[in-house]
Amino acid sequence: MTSSRTHSVGQLLSWAIFHQVVDLLQATVGTDAIVLTENQAPKRFFLAASPSFSALIQADAIDADYCQLHLTFSPDQISAFLEEINYALPFLLQENQSDHQSEFTLNLIKLFAHSAHPSIQHQVEQERLINQVTTLIRHSLNLPVILETAVHQVREFLEADRVIIYQFNFPAPSCLIDGEVLTADPTVPNLDGITYEARSSDRIPSILNLMNEYSAASLKHLQKRHSDSVTWAANSTKSKSSTVASLLDEPTAISIQAELVTPIMVQEELWGLLIVHQCQHPRQWLEREKILLQRIAEHLAIAIYQSKLYSELQQQKNTLEQQIIDRTQELRDTLIAAESASLAKSEFLSTMSHELRTPLTTILGMAATLIRAFQDTNYILTPQKQIEYLQIIQERGEHLLALINDLLDLSEVEAGKMILECKEVSLSKLAQQSIQLVQGKADAKQVALSLELLPPGERTSRDFRFQADPLRVQQICLNLLSNAIKFTPEKGQVTMRVRVSSTTAILQVEDTGIGIPAEQRSLLFQKFKQLDASYHRKYEGTGLGLALTKQLVELHGGTIEVDSKVGVGSKFTVFLPLPRA
Ligand code: ADP
Repeated sequence: MTSSRTHSVGQLLSWAIFHQVVDLLQATVGTDAIVLTENQAPKRFFLAASPSFSALIQADAIDADYCQLHLTFSPDQISAFLEEINYALPFLLQENQSDHQSEFTLNLIKLFAHSAHPSIQHQVEQERLINQVTTLIRHSLNLPVILETAVHQVREFLEADRVIIYQFNFPAPSCLIDGEVLTADPTVPNLDGITYEARSSDRIPSILNLMNEYSAASLKHLQKRHSDSVTWAANSTKSKSSTVASLLDEPTAISIQAELVTPIMVQEELWGLLIVHQCQHPRQWLEREKILLQRIAEHLAIAIYQSKLYSELQQQKNTLEQQIIDRTQELRDTLIAAESASLAKSEFLSTMSHELRTPLTTILGMAATLIRAFQDTNYILTPQKQIEYLQIIQERGEHLLALINDLLDLSEVEAGKMILECKEVSLSKLAQQSIQLVQGKADAKQVALSLELLPPGERTSRDFRFQADPLRVQQICLNLLSNAIKFTPEKGQVTMRVRVSSTTAILQVEDTGIGIPAEQRSLLFQKFKQLDASYHRKYEGTGLGLALTKQLVELHGGTIEVDSKVGVGSKFTVFLPLPRA
């Protein structure tokens, strides 16, 4: 046949199929068609022609069992063939009627589907296996499931006795939960060994979980050996020389007749080996089996890399989430701190304006009255009243000065600019002076004031002397005493105690005043904090005294403590360290 076969179908099939196709064609054309046939090798053909449907089947013999089949429906090709064999039809060949054509084609497909050549069938099966593995990889991130399924599918496909995965350098199984590595325990050494296995039956002994302690040197050696990623086959492996036996150094446990091994290379690193065993009888491995194993190993390497990336990503995601949570918390804390700072500032401003305005108004009022008394002859002010007014102006002025001094002191300490002028001071003397300075206030409020030098009766020649800034220590004493008097009602008692141990000088001011609720004690030493900050509060003050006191105590390297009971009284104790001898 010389004419073009562009419209013909070429297929490698058994002779049996050739005959079945002929039968099918005969059934399709019916009895009134012209049939020409030659059933002798080498050129067998079958031609059926009718005005509605024509086809030509030719077979080139390959051997006694198989032929190459050519099928055409082309009127030109069929006419050319008829010319070649010198046969003239009584009618003109036409394109086939479509219903005949599709009926024939469908039947042909059914026929081929059941009877393809074994090599094609095998190829289809092989592609199907690879397709199953790649689909699994595409749809699952669960590496253990992918590897487990793959060894089973490969074993089934190759009809081998055993398929295993030998894995290098993985965390000890104690760290594996549900096949997933949770946390690698750095104290437990990593392992090498068989992590996946599929067996044809229970008669094949299991070698799953045979492990070795991981050795970087042996992996390096293997890596070098298998870096070119070849699949190697041992067709009659003696136990001793099998890969697994040599890796695990356990020749007796493993009886293998043939072995096929392919490396699983992940990012150019030897991750593991995919190994096929024939245990019962020797086996000659086919080229296509080696190629298949190699292709599966390549796909598994992709899955392993993909799962590694995924777990890294997951870890990064977790770290990021944690960072976001931490950062949000930090921001929230900063916001709360800023809010409370701004609240404290506005509280302070309203307190300060109150504290400044009250004495200033008095000073201005008194001054105006005095001026009027001097200018207006009708306005008479006795000399006694004049002195009283001037005393009030002086008192209020001093209060304002003290307030501003406290404020300046505090800002100086906070800016780290305050310098202590330390010298040897007598604590008992400082305490006595402080008592004298507040005695007037105590008397005015009818509060009894006393000083106890402890232990009582001890000679005072050493006189509780120690190194400190006398002005600042007195400031501490005065702040504590003034508060004690201020917050103690009439007929109450304020006691100051002074004591020196071998390492510490102790100052204590105790009162029988209103006391401080436990939940408010943490606010005590914060600047601008007054426990009763309402505008119409009962006790004057700025909320600076205790903040400044604490700073001054700390500047001396000391600490301050408070003990208090509402309605019973408060006890402030200052501990100042003594310099070592
Ligand atoms: P202030 O100038 O308002 O007294 P402080 O810083 O000295 O400021 O004190 C802060 C707050 O602590 C006071 O407003 C008061 O509520 C409370 N406080 C201080 N000392 C005493 C005390 N001895 N008894 C009861 N409350 C006290």
